Amino acid sequence: IPKRETKKIKRFQEDIRDRNFLVNQGIIYTYMSNYTNSPCAACKFLRRKCTSDCVFAPYFPPEEPTKFANVHRIFGASNVSKILQEVAPHQREDAVNSLAYEAEARLKDPVYGCVGAISVLQRQVLRLQRELEETNADLMRYAGCLGGETTSAYGGRRG
Ligand SMILES: [Zn+2]
Repeated sequence: IPKRETKKIKRFQEDIRDRNFLVNQGIIYTYMSNYTNSPCAACKFLRRKCTSDCVFAPYFPPEEPTKFANVHRIFGASNVSKILQEVAPHQREDAVNSLAYEAEARLKDPVYGCVGAISVLQRQVLRLQRELEETNADLMRYAGCLGGETTSAYGGRRG
């Protein structure tokens, strides 16, 4: 093989590697799904034709079938489509991601859904605040034991 050809092959391999990296990072999902012309995950799931103006296509790439399946099961495809149309285009991706998060949480925990996760975190915050208060109190006691010329736990000079 001529040297120029091996160089070309090497560059091609690097391109593929870069593209795979971007796909893995979720950066060019939309690009890939439009590029391959395969129906988006929503249209595939609903067994309908995916047109170029499909409202779901930019947010439900065929590579992530469960994302749509979860959202559809909890909210229903027509509600999701309505929500997307009511939201400004630049906020649609965030809206879809939050719907996907909520749907997944509700499937895992049908009673509390996201609220379950929030209350677990709130309890954790309370527990950590108590722990911090106790540790600060210990520090103050320890500083007190060392006597007169010490500083408080907050670095301020005492007395
Ligand atoms: Zn579609």
